[in-house]
Amino acid sequence: MSIDQIERRRFDALIIGAGGGGLRAALQLSEADASVAVVSKVFPTRSHTVAAQGGMNAALANILPDNWHWHMFDTVKGSDYLGDQDAIEYMCRSAPKVVYELEHFGVPFSRLDNGKIYQRPFGGQSQNFGGEQAARTCAAADRTGHAILHSLYQQNIRAKTHFFDEYFAVDLLKDEQGNVLGAFVFDIHTGKEIIIEAKTTLLATGGAGQLYKTTTNALINTGDGMGMALRAGVPLQDMEFFQFHPTGIAGRGMLITEGARGEGGYLVNSEGERLMERYAPTAKDLASRDVVSRAIYTEVKEGRGCGPNKDHVLLKLDHLGEAVLQKRLPGIRQTCITFLGIDPAEQPIPVYPTAHYTMGGIPTDRYGQVVIPVKDTPEEPVTGLYAAGECACVSVHGANRLGGNSLLDILVFGRSAANHIIEYLKEHRYHRPMNEDSVAQAYERLHRWDNVGEGESVAQLRKELQAAMEDNCGVFRTQEVLDKGVAEVTAIAERLKHARISDHTDMFNTARVEALELENLIDVALATVNSAAARHESRGAHSRVDYPDRDDKQWMKHSLYSLLDRQLDYKPVRTKPLSVDTFPPRARVY
Ligand SMILES: Cc1cc2nc3c(=O)[nH]c(=O)nc-3n(C[C@H](O)[C@H](O)[C@H](O)COP(=O)(O)OP(=O)(O)OC[C@H]3O[C@@H](n4cnc5c(N)ncnc54)[C@H](O)[C@@H]3O)c2cc1C
Repeated sequence: MSIDQIERRRFDALIIGAGGGGLRAALQLSEADASVAVVSKVFPTRSHTVAAQGGMNAALANILPDNWHWHMFDTVKGSDYLGDQDAIEYMCRSAPKVVYELEHFGVPFSRLDNGKIYQRPFGGQSQNFGGEQAARTCAAADRTGHAILHSLYQQNIRAKTHFFDEYFAVDLLKDEQGNVLGAFVFDIHTGKEIIIEAKTTLLATGGAGQLYKTTTNALINTGDGMGMALRAGVPLQDMEFFQFHPTGIAGRGMLITEGARGEGGYLVNSEGERLMERYAPTAKDLASRDVVSRAIYTEVKEGRGCGPNKDHVLLKLDHLGEAVLQKRLPGIRQTCITFLGIDPAEQPIPVYPTAHYTMGGIPTDRYGQVVIPVKDTPEEPVTGLYAAGECACVSVHGANRLGGNSLLDILVFGRSAANHIIEYLKEHRYHRPMNEDSVAQAYERLHRWDNVGEGESVAQLRKELQAAMEDNCGVFRTQEVLDKGVAEVTAIAERLKHARISDHTDMFNTARVEALELENLIDVALATVNSAAARHESRGAHSRVDYPDRDDKQWMKHSLYSLLDRQLDYKPVRTKPLSVDTFPPRARVY
């Protein structure tokens, strides 16, 4: 089909991504009578949000004393002071309201005997600005994301949101001035292409955990929105900060929620010691994720790992008793029985740090507007373009995200982006004329993969990319290893130019999807490894053996990586909150 025969559809708002972030935004917009299209490469309720286990944070004080200001302190400290304090205040203050909204949408939260929402302790949570452990994570057993995503989907069906299920978004479309006007998408089943014209476009495409070989993330988490943003001239922010979750199932990567430690589980090494007592004497197993991941890695490296290869540690839950496990952690118990043949009510679980969460992403303000530095101004919004959820960097997680803060992030900022879009639509009532060159570019990018021919296979390159990232951009980093990572990823990017897709004709469209995903992954990998090689300090999840200290004087700033010149730039951290005093940087101990 030639370009001018391609169907065009018009909507007020286009949302790319049907995870928690996209669906929360869609609901807000549909309820405000905007016409909304949601495009998702998988059926909405298969988005990665469905896999979230442990829960979401809000200072409801249902079990222990709490308030949003303590939550804010913990989040700033958890971010290793790289988070923007205006956005963090906004998120923590909105949290209770967002949870009650979910309750009204029908999310079946676990309950206390008095009927209130159940909350469990999670890592990095404290009362009174660094005091006793808090219990802030609202949970629906260990299937919280499942409960939230299904409720949001049902609410969207009721509100008549228009879904393009199993459509793949290739690239953003623009006008002559660079304003974003929608996206070029195609139906994965039939290959049919559609130009979706929209007054506003929200990227809610999730994270990029597929950068790594061992990951808790689904196969679909390939950083597509980040790739699209990069190609549209938007830099990616803070990509060097990638979270490794301390407790993936060793060697396989499936997640064992932090909630397992929240319920009283703990880690032991080959000597039977509770290893976290050494690394975080106060918070122990509920220290921040970066701290626990480094501890496990160090134990194994120093020879105190478990198993025949001494390559993991053990997570002990049997002392909690079968009844507690069945009530609070039924999903992870089932995962262990199915995949390991181990019942955690009887035996400990082998665990090791696993790639989990993309702290960096598309730079936005707290209204979800994508903002980029322009000449001498600190930053300006890209008209019509929004981002929310794991693909965005607002930045509330800074250098390290606290468990339970991502479900909160996607819902708070999905909602606030939608509210801003509603205001924008009141002022901008008409569709602008499209720059047909941007359509042609997206069309060519897709059709570059029409020819099955000679060359390396996409699948092989994806494997090599994941190995390069795992080996050279992991929990502990040095200049030498990161430089090797830059070289290897750059070489893979070159080889991609001559790659081919599999020639099974019945799989043609899925093979094209895999090729487009790999292009996105490679661009995101370049951003990640280049930003990491350039940051000469240790902060949060970015842990440099050769620069072991945090350096606030030189490095308390956000990095910005651009694709066009493959250059890095920096911008200041927004340290001023909205209504309270700044939390100044302090040594970070747990
Ligand atoms: C196993 C696991 C457990 C977790 N547990 C917790 C937890 O307990 N608490 C917590 O706070 N956080 C948790 N997290 C993190 C949290 O779940 C995620 O950060 C969050 O759900 C991401 O939501 P999202 O809406 O940004 O994206 P996702 O839910 O990842 O959705 C992305 C959407 O984008 C679509 N998409 C992507 N690319 C394209 C494209 N090119 N074209 C069309 N559509 C596209 C996908 O189809 C999908 O609908 C967990 C993460 C994992 C992996």
